[in-house]
Amino acid sequence: MAALQPDTPTWYSALRRAALAWYGRHARDLPWRRLSDPYAIWVSEVMLQQTQAATVEAYFPRFMARFPRLADLAAASEREVLRAWEGLGYYRRARELWRAARHVVEHYGGEIPRTRELLEQLPGVGPYTAGAILSIAFDQREPILEANTRRLWARLLDWRQPLHGRHSQQRLWRAARCILPRREAGRLNQALMELGSRVCTPRSPRCHECPLARWCAAYQQGSVHLVPRQRARPPTQRVRHAAAIVWNRGRVLLVQNPANGRWPGLWDFPRAVVHDGTEPRQQLRQELRRRFGVAVHAGPLLLRMTHTVTRYRIALDCFLLLHRRGTLGRKGGERARWVAVGELETYPLSATGRRIARHVARQMAHDAALPLS
Ligand code: SF4
Repeated sequence: MAALQPDTPTWYSALRRAALAWYGRHARDLPWRRLSDPYAIWVSEVMLQQTQAATVEAYFPRFMARFPRLADLAAASEREVLRAWEGLGYYRRARELWRAARHVVEHYGGEIPRTRELLEQLPGVGPYTAGAILSIAFDQREPILEANTRRLWARLLDWRQPLHGRHSQQRLWRAARCILPRREAGRLNQALMELGSRVCTPRSPRCHECPLARWCAAYQQGSVHLVPRQRARPPTQRVRHAAAIVWNRGRVLLVQNPANGRWPGLWDFPRAVVHDGTEPRQQLRQELRRRFGVAVHAGPLLLRMTHTVTRYRIALDCFLLLHRRGTLGRKGGERARWVAVGELETYPLSATGRRIARHVARQMAHDAALPLS
């Protein structure tokens, strides 16, 4: 069979048929695919941004059980929403989803808008999320483009330019629109995302079992390894941090991360970057006095862990520090409070913050290392 010319109506039509047939046989039975509620589809699409479906599969049912309707989410506090989101990462998504839900209740009587223009005015809703809601929930002929389909289209078109430039974006969005059928655009969009995530994977794409290989320009040209063009990754940097478990008669000091920082809105144990040649306990003592007006006695190292955030490999030492005096002034405008160990479970914490909190609770239960006063 003669190869079809890419980017022609017959080429799109062949891709469409092959993608839908493959999806009919291979679609995963994911919890959100059994639902038609636009709110549930919206939640799933937000969770799926930057998170694998296998991870979302565990979180989505719990979140929906906690906030079954958009009105429930809008009525919740930010703290409740972040706690329910804890572990999924990229917490800005949760805060914006919550703010958007409140906006929908306040301005649209709880009905999710059905136009791209109105949807994209909601916090956290960009072209991808709007396209997903409109096509999957409302069966509108709207395209989507996210990491998996961006890579898939680049290879299908043998597009060798960097993908994030304006010209590339326009080109790939156009392809994503051209392939859409008149009806069931949402099903086709899901088929393409599924193909991108399971077959046309970033490394080692499974071209030999790909239903689109016959029409894939990069595969036909032998240039799959060149597309998409890789951006140079910055090297990993090793850094040292110290966390303070400030003990004050059964309570510990928590501080809320600012809206424009890392893990926005989450609570955490006070931390400091440890510079070469500095003694971490001494540095924590100085920071606590400067930031919160709290004086402490230095205590032992309670916990040591290593974790990765973007390109940083962080060695984190967690010290017990005993409150001496100070009533928690808001010197630097930071939001901080004393929290009873038994209440830590109700606060949304970063992954490492949760590990520290659970360690403290265990230590307290065993009366080890912590001075119970
Ligand atoms: S043939 Fe290979 S490169 Fe082309 S779409 Fe399929 S998996 Fe991706």
